[in-house]
Amino acid sequence: MPTLVMKFGGTSVANLDRIRRAAKRVGVEVAKGYDVIVIVSAMSGKTNELVGWVNETSPLHDAREYDSVVSSGENVTAGLMALTLQEMGVPARSWQGWQVPLMTTSAHSQARIEEIPTENINTKFKEGMKVAVVAGFQGISPEGRITTLGRGGSDTTAVAFAAAFDAERCDIYTDVDGVYTTDPRICDKARKLDKIAFEEMLELASLGAKVLQTRSVELAMRYKVKLRVLSSFEEQSDEAGTLVCDEEEIMESNVVAGVAYSRDEAKLTAVSVADRPGIAATIFGCLTDAVVNVDMIVQNISDDGRTDMTFSCPTDQVARAEKALGDYKDSGELNFSEVIADTEVAKVSVVGIGMRSQSGVAAKMFKVLSDEGINIKVITTSEIKISVLIERKYMELAVQALHDAFELEKA
Ligand code: ADP
Ligand code: ASP
Ligand code: MG
Repeated sequence: MPTLVMKFGGTSVANLDRIRRAAKRVGVEVAKGYDVIVIVSAMSGKTNELVGWVNETSPLHDAREYDSVVSSGENVTAGLMALTLQEMGVPARSWQGWQVPLMTTSAHSQARIEEIPTENINTKFKEGMKVAVVAGFQGISPEGRITTLGRGGSDTTAVAFAAAFDAERCDIYTDVDGVYTTDPRICDKARKLDKIAFEEMLELASLGAKVLQTRSVELAMRYKVKLRVLSSFEEQSDEAGTLVCDEEEIMESNVVAGVAYSRDEAKLTAVSVADRPGIAATIFGCLTDAVVNVDMIVQNISDDGRTDMTFSCPTDQVARAEKALGDYKDSGELNFSEVIADTEVAKVSVVGIGMRSQSGVAAKMFKVLSDEGINIKVITTSEIKISVLIERKYMELAVQALHDAFELEKA
């Protein structure tokens, strides 16, 4: 039997009615002759609630216990989905990550999938089971502890299963009907794309478009998984949604494919750092040791042998970054004057493969922002994207203005 992977996100399993609706979709695919692997998220809001409970109980918590708590939301929906399918007369059972077992690294709360043995589930398919329901987002470490794959990780569970079982397709059912030129929730002119190239989706995801977890796109690209994003709220044809595919499969595309944003960014500046070899290595080495994910970096022109070093990181890592730099400062090795944190910033990015061959995108982006009176604090570029850090209150305005200026509403 051909295998299909169907993943249902939090809003698609938010209550028993929605689980029933999702199970009906699964039933349609079973009727077509597929063996189906269903990956479920926790009910929407559940994971946030669990994370909140952990933080309230223990702000500097043991990451292993964090994982054991926050992974539990998916256990509930996996069992309920299996029961719903059984009620519909579809032979189904649930698996928690450790039962598969979905083997991961030991990097708790950010684990990476290492291996998915197929024997267990395949034996059941051979015995006549039609649907394996697997709890997304969770796995088991070599030490035998429960791990989680980072927020949004059920997407990655789904793609990894599609690769391991050589599935015909991996369908990601969510609360929008595909991948858009930008988040349709903040720009009403956003246009749904029929296809998007892996490279562009990878950039958009890593720059904040949470419709797919970045790692899931990486895996789909590496293992050539046919990946589709579609709505769980509408009747679906085989052509529905957005297909994430190779660049060659897309005939025509705009220079800029999409605009992404990331709200929870912070900018930190170490003021008046000695400008000598090894300083950047020391600063960013100490931030790495403190597990701060540094994103953008700028070093100012040196004045009198001293310079300012500015970088960005997620808002919830600011305290850790300040502490790490503060500890070093006191040790005398860095002797900068102070660290200034600006936690009211956001990152806005334009992404497009067309930028490889067309110049002027950056100039246009900066002009659009300046026409709106938006000051740019930090800029970074790569071959197919340009990102700027701006004041957070201008984020939505910037996204909409860039969407207009690059005419993304037009195909
Ligand atoms: P799920 O719970 O199904 O995993 P998510 O909330 O993680 O769903 O992802 C879907 C959301 O991603 C949408 O509701 C939308 O607001 C957001 N999003 C951000 N950028 C985009 C984009 N370019 N295209 C579609 N959705 C986007
Ligand atoms: N429930 C997890 C989260 O909210 C995983 C997922 O939904 O993909 O991050
Ligand atoms: Mg998600």
